[in-house]
Amino acid sequence: MWVDHKRNAKTDERERNRHGTMTTHTEPLQSVLEAVGETPLVRVQASTDEVPVFAKLESFNPGASIKDRIGEHMLRRMLERGDVDPGGTVVEPTAGNTGIGMAMAATQFDLEVVFVVPEEFSVEKQVLMRALGAEVVNTPTEDGMKRAIEHAAELVAEMENAVVPQQFSNQLNAETHAQTTGPEIRAALDGEVGALVAGCGTAGTLMGTARHLVEHDPDVHVVAVEPEGSLLARTEDREVEQAEYTIEGIGTSNLATNELYDPELVDEVRQVTDRAAHEEMHRLAGEEGQLVASSAAAASVAALDVAGRIGDGALDVPHETVVTIFPDSSERYLSKGVYDSFESWADEEPG
Ligand code: PMP
Repeated sequence: MWVDHKRNAKTDERERNRHGTMTTHTEPLQSVLEAVGETPLVRVQASTDEVPVFAKLESFNPGASIKDRIGEHMLRRMLERGDVDPGGTVVEPTAGNTGIGMAMAATQFDLEVVFVVPEEFSVEKQVLMRALGAEVVNTPTEDGMKRAIEHAAELVAEMENAVVPQQFSNQLNAETHAQTTGPEIRAALDGEVGALVAGCGTAGTLMGTARHLVEHDPDVHVVAVEPEGSLLARTEDREVEQAEYTIEGIGTSNLATNELYDPELVDEVRQVTDRAAHEEMHRLAGEEGQLVASSAAAASVAALDVAGRIGDGALDVPHETVVTIFPDSSERYLSKGVYDSFESWADEEPG
């Protein structure tokens, strides 16, 4: 029989938390929405015992990404507030995962959904959105998210009882993470979080989670992760150049669209190259059994770097523990050649 010699009072306490307040997944559920959240926090094994990195595995959500959380929370709150009534339509510009989360929630809330998606994003996501009953409208890749956002507003102006949740500017996005992701992390680690390192697309994940952690401990070190070529680093007055990148789901080519991003809450912006993310995506799979996608791999690179600096004494944090978020699984990107050579992945044609 396997005996865990490291088991101690703290572990017992954590287990009590988990079974007492954290998980509903030990009982039969009535809807997939009840299975959203309460995802596991798993050690990144490349981190040291002195400064462990823990990753929240968001592919455990029923729609297999972190965006199930905002799908459930934003639509429920918008119905409660009367922004839209049952039988109405939700029109959202989305790179895909949000579409899946919202389409899944819409099946349970009697709402129709239309998504405006730049063509570049993975076909897997668009297939899943359609399977969940959504209509998908594509905009040209070269016009970016900005055009998708404009087109969603144009569509909703022509409809009755329709609304654009607008994950890029709606505080309900960040509120979702302040009420779920943040508390789950604190509960799993008994509040002992030194740094939070997470990728930023809308920045809802980082802002909401950080807000909750910082409210309990103002010294938690908050790191925003973006691909090299993205522009959040300009909020730190760094002269970074805009460039194309392959990492999917994070980064921005137009800071004006990132309305949720609050530089005041962020201690540093860390850029990660496509090459480093690709290498880490392969390492995580081959060495740690983690089938995660490129934005998770970028977050892992940055989180391990932060942990290294804490270990070296170069960075002071309230607890020697780093938390990061792995937003989704690599399975959603197999058509993009994520497990092919770097050149083949990075040169893959959009679509
Ligand atoms: N990774 C992936 C794969 C995503 O789809 C997203 C959302 N665009 C993110 C990370 C970033 O999450 P957020 O929008 O909350 O910043």
